[in-house]
Amino acid sequence: EVRVRFAPSPTGPLHIGGVRTALYNYLLARKTGGKMILRIEDTDQNRFVPGAEDYIRESLEWCGIELDESPWNGGPYAPYRQSERKPMYMQYALQLVNDGHAYYAFDTAEELEAMRERLKAAKVATPQYNAITRATMRNSLTMPEDEVKKLLESGAPYVIRLKVPRKEEIRLKDLIRGWVMVHSSSIDDKVLMKSDGMPTYHLANIVDDHLMKITHVIRGEEWLPSAPLHVLLYRYLGWEDTMPEFAHLPLLLKPDGNGKLSKRDGDKLGFPVFPLRWQDPFTGEISSGYREAGYLPDAFVNFLAFLGWNPGTQQEIFSMEELANEFTVERIGKSGTRFDIQKARWFNEQYLRAKPDAELAGFLLKALEEHNISCTPEKAEKVAGLMKERVSFPQDFWKEAAYFFVAPEEYSEKVASKKWNAQSVAVFEDFKNELPSLADFNADTVKELLTTILERHGMKIGQVMQALRLAVTGAEAGPDLMQIIEIIGREETINRIETAIA
Ligand code: GLU
Repeated sequence: EVRVRFAPSPTGPLHIGGVRTALYNYLLARKTGGKMILRIEDTDQNRFVPGAEDYIRESLEWCGIELDESPWNGGPYAPYRQSERKPMYMQYALQLVNDGHAYYAFDTAEELEAMRERLKAAKVATPQYNAITRATMRNSLTMPEDEVKKLLESGAPYVIRLKVPRKEEIRLKDLIRGWVMVHSSSIDDKVLMKSDGMPTYHLANIVDDHLMKITHVIRGEEWLPSAPLHVLLYRYLGWEDTMPEFAHLPLLLKPDGNGKLSKRDGDKLGFPVFPLRWQDPFTGEISSGYREAGYLPDAFVNFLAFLGWNPGTQQEIFSMEELANEFTVERIGKSGTRFDIQKARWFNEQYLRAKPDAELAGFLLKALEEHNISCTPEKAEKVAGLMKERVSFPQDFWKEAAYFFVAPEEYSEKVASKKWNAQSVAVFEDFKNELPSLADFNADTVKELLTTILERHGMKIGQVMQALRLAVTGAEAGPDLMQIIEIIGREETINRIETAIA
């Protein structure tokens, strides 16, 4: 059984890149009939941000990413929050120490700093605690056994570090990138257990993936440099046979392709980088979200799925179910994907248009209520149906269609100066005078009447249309004017024309 996990750290709001990672995991689980697990990786208490966990939960819910196991709905491998699993990790660190793959280190912060300074002075590019430097430091590999014992018994602070071999090629097969090779000399003797008794990300992540029987690790490319270290941990813990498969997702790039899209970009690039609005609990700063901007969750998900994956066909519109059916890790691209907000907007438009008019009317009715304007559902439905090709977001219905409910107060000067003349005013005069005589008032009969009047005046429809639209709606463009007039109604149309030509 395929078991995948999304393992965010609650250090802030979930970035769109994080949502994409969650989505790809979810799609693989759905495609294979496997399980989607969410684990909160909160071992770094210094980076804890209040509200971040709730934000993660709400974001995934909004996207329709369902969890089979999580801190919120439990599961057979609970608890799913690492801070609540704290007692479980030490035994594995001790096992590594006993087997000679890890060691105690007693170096103080000052000693570590002095080591780094020494290395920098010797022009070492990346100072590391590694096979060479560990020999000069205070740890259980360099100190007599009884001294180590004494220190441990006295309660002296220590960390446990992984003993990375000095010269070894570590190989890792990534499902997206193929074979990745790293030389062990470039890997730090990473801390596995911190002095506060908490595991680091590396140890906790491997122990939990193993205990939770994770089969595939799909995560962002920023974790690729840690992967060789993780391979060593699986090997030394004796879990190499059940090591999960890895897939490191390509980066999301800024629209110009220059660098990765980061949380810090906030709204600076002119679009949200977070799924939901977020207020920083420390600074109060607000970052906008896709939900609040009017993106429909289905459209957002469809857009995200295509940021790094494609089905290999021309089809672009996919429901979550269709995505799950089509999804394969093999079709994830290797190179970074540029973020394109226009495309997100396009998806939103497609999803809006595909909705039944009655549902779209709901968006309009809500706005009307806020403006204290009453309207029948039938009328709202007609307006929504007429306007849906012209909107990108639900809130646009009100912005673009307000004139159906409120008479114009200003008329665009541009059109007024060009098309507004005595001739057209004479036509409008006849038009509004003769409108009451129509037995049936609808788009067709209104158009017939206008055509008859124009013939009488020896004019073409093109000569008055823009001015008439202006008189009735106050706008320069919009859907078919005769349809608009039908919806606005006879009396209101007459009133508006009278006001305009007065
Ligand atoms: N906790 C890590 C993060 O915040 C998870 C990385 C992984 O998936 O292994 O991204």
